[in-house]
Amino acid sequence: MTKKIFWKNPYLTELDTVVKKVNGNQITVNETIFYAFSGGQESDSGTIGGYTVLNAQKNGKELYYTLDDQHQLKAGDKVRIIVDWSRRYQLMRLHFAAEIILELAYKKFPTILKTGAHIAEAKARIDFKCEDSISSSLKELQAHAQSIIDSSQPIISAFSDEVTERRYWKIKEFSPVPCGGTHPQNTKEVGTITLKRINLGKGKERLEIFIKEKEK
Ligand SMILES: [Zn+2]
Repeated sequence: MTKKIFWKNPYLTELDTVVKKVNGNQITVNETIFYAFSGGQESDSGTIGGYTVLNAQKNGKELYYTLDDQHQLKAGDKVRIIVDWSRRYQLMRLHFAAEIILELAYKKFPTILKTGAHIAEAKARIDFKCEDSISSSLKELQAHAQSIIDSSQPIISAFSDEVTERRYWKIKEFSPVPCGGTHPQNTKEVGTITLKRINLGKGKERLEIFIKEKEK
């Protein structure tokens, strides 16, 4: 199992650790701050031991990193992991914006069903199956989400079961929500959100979420 420091401290951008196993160009490490694609949140980008991580993959409780074929790393080597913070922070903020929108959508539309979600650096999207069009509620949804973000409240992220690595997040508006992604510590960090609706055909809705820094 890779010890996932990005849960304990999602703000850590550098970490010294040790290579656990090497299998060709794929390695595992004892501890990591480098998030691997999971729950719709894209992988971080960055380096391990000075080598660019080409791919990060989660398999069970282990994270596998693919490096360039030229890498010289061996099991037991000390390495420093460095993650691209501007990308990660953007992913964390968009991820949490999507979480809020999703919870509000569930409350507003009892028949709605999430069919997919993807958090990239430029935007997040959520796909729904929904009997009603969400078009007329878009502004309201955005305003409600923004008011939660602007309430500047702490976001609790913790284990519900540490052995199976099940995690949740919680703010006062909602019941605990299961999620193993990375979240900011406070709602205000999300900034200002914009929602865009894309109609994918009858009964199918896509919401795209964009964020920008709060205007001063
Ligand atoms: Zn989450």
